[in-house]
Amino acid sequence: MRALFDIASDDTAPQVEQVLQAQGVPGGGGRSRSPDDAPRRERARQLALQAISLYCEQAVPRGLFDELTADAFEPLLRPGEIGDSPLRQIYPDAGALALYAVTVGEPVSELIGRLFDADDFALASMLDTAASHGAELAAQAIKARWREHLLATGRLQPTTGIMEFSPGYCGWEVTAQQPLFARLRPAEIGIALNSSFLMQPLKSVSGVLVAGDKEIFMFDPEFECCRGCQARTCVDRINSLVAESGLD
Ligand code: SF4
Repeated sequence: MRALFDIASDDTAPQVEQVLQAQGVPGGGGRSRSPDDAPRRERARQLALQAISLYCEQAVPRGLFDELTADAFEPLLRPGEIGDSPLRQIYPDAGALALYAVTVGEPVSELIGRLFDADDFALASMLDTAASHGAELAAQAIKARWREHLLATGRLQPTTGIMEFSPGYCGWEVTAQQPLFARLRPAEIGIALNSSFLMQPLKSVSGVLVAGDKEIFMFDPEFECCRGCQARTCVDRINSLVAESGLD
């Protein structure tokens, strides 16, 4: 099944604390380190609120997913892949797979560019962060839509988990964007790929959604690609997948 969706921009608006934390604002995790931080933090909070408000005005989130078989997915994984990877280990045991892409649209990127051009670096940077989070939240919205589809088609069990992977991360080479785009055709929602495999609009996310028994996602991050990985975001992703309850 292939499905396209418009998403309400408010549904992809990040929390102010998320934006502050990503910007490295002291106390961005929720607490000021010292009383001296309070005025600066309040200025930053007001700026983040303004950026989120601008994001909601400008963002035009759209997304799509397109299901495919493991055999059809295999050629998309292969280009340029270095050694083993979590995705290569997991996908053969998946119950269902879907390519996906989301974007929050070009207008918000154009506004970020105009703010930088006008030397309003603080607001431009806050809006850039808000839009990056917005694209991630749009990806979560598409994941939720696919989850609903799996439930409606009787393919979601209490033990089913869904994890997303994107080219350029966790051993899936960024060159895989080319066959992924050829198959998914996200031009239909306004996303293009340039010769450096960067997406246009910039605030877009693409990849594969993998559904299967939660057990298949319980990998140890000890692949070749994990050497030197500082982010180790897989740990949080695995933990939240474990914490997800079944069919609600
Ligand atoms: S350690 Fe890093 S590269 Fe390895 S799976 Fe986790 S996030 Fe990916």
